[in-house]
Amino acid sequence: MSIIEQDKTYIANTYARFPVHIVSGKGAVAVDENGKEYIDLGSGIGVTAFGYCDDEWVKAVTEQLNKVQHTSNLYYTTPGADLAKTLCERTGMKKVFFSNSGAEANECAIKVARKYATEKKGEEYYTILTLVNSFHGRTLTTLSATGQEHFHKLFNPLTPGFISTPANDVEAFEECVKNNKLAGVMIETVQGEGGVNPLDEKFVKAVYDICKKEDIILIVDEVQTGNGRCGKLYSYQNYGISPDVVSTAKGLGGGLPIGATLMSEKVQSVLSFGDHGSTYGANPVACAGAKSVIDRLTDEFLAEVNEKSAYVFDKLSKMKGVVSVSGKGLMIGIKTERNAKEVVLECLENGVMCLTAKDKVRLLPPLNISYELLDKALAVIEKALKQGE
Ligand SMILES: *Cc1c(COP(=O)(O)O)cnc(C)c1O
Repeated sequence: MSIIEQDKTYIANTYARFPVHIVSGKGAVAVDENGKEYIDLGSGIGVTAFGYCDDEWVKAVTEQLNKVQHTSNLYYTTPGADLAKTLCERTGMKKVFFSNSGAEANECAIKVARKYATEKKGEEYYTILTLVNSFHGRTLTTLSATGQEHFHKLFNPLTPGFISTPANDVEAFEECVKNNKLAGVMIETVQGEGGVNPLDEKFVKAVYDICKKEDIILIVDEVQTGNGRCGKLYSYQNYGISPDVVSTAKGLGGGLPIGATLMSEKVQSVLSFGDHGSTYGANPVACAGAKSVIDRLTDEFLAEVNEKSAYVFDKLSKMKGVVSVSGKGLMIGIKTERNAKEVVLECLENGVMCLTAKDKVRLLPPLNISYELLDKALAVIEKALKQGE
């Protein structure tokens, strides 16, 4: 039985995989079972921030692996404490809760908002307002938070207490605030799965101001946008706001599962003993890898990410078959004349991995990808865009 057949036989049928079996990788290049190489512009959906088996990341992870891999949260370990300190120092946040995925990071954020509002305003202040077209995860509660109906059907009843309002509509947002007893508001500054749509600066500022005035907890979901992806350490920093809670995952771990929920001064003491927990939380190996990722996201490095971003935006905008280019940093959406799935399939056949998001081609290349590989990959995309004609 081939691995593809074995997978289809024994793994739950939840993913529409491409017929490619990856066996190894280095930097931005993945290798399949036949030795065919692919330039990966998807980074395992924004996870491998420095590509496959990056030397510094491997060193950080294996060094820790040879010391202690897990102790449980009954004891202290170094990597979690170090990573939390770094995250707080780099963002001005005051406390971190570690988990293992984006959905879990959001679950924690929602619990913080609800407990804060319950204690401060009363139990009836539990509703979380999110945006239409958002994506916040696959657990039943984060699914409820996700403002896309098609994810909801067949899984009712969902967790109560979630409503959504259209992105970039300040008036509609104000109405929701007026008509509901809100605990929190949760936004992605660039909607990733929703189609790589950055929010308007004006809207984000208005949301921030209203939340501040009404004492509503503002949660920014940085699971995809964070950790350098949008040209800042966290994408909210592009908007000049300071959220009460920031959730993140994906690129933070560089390839190992980790989630983090960052809490500002206002909410740093909301969670107390017994309120929350995670057996694997602050796993030493994952945290050591994540620390090495964050340490490399210096201002100098982030400036390079922004230069690369401008380069890719410019090249793509000039290509025939491109309707528009959206996104921020190296989180890029391409509206194509040709069907996006066809473009992605053809790119794959020609050795370039891309993603889709709604009806767009989505690129999340490793942050340190070379211009040489970028040029090669962009040439393959350009060709695939034309094939539909
Ligand atoms: C991927 C994603 C999640 C879910 O992360 P998991 O690690 O799959 O649980 C949540 N929010 C956003 C914005 C995401 O892109």
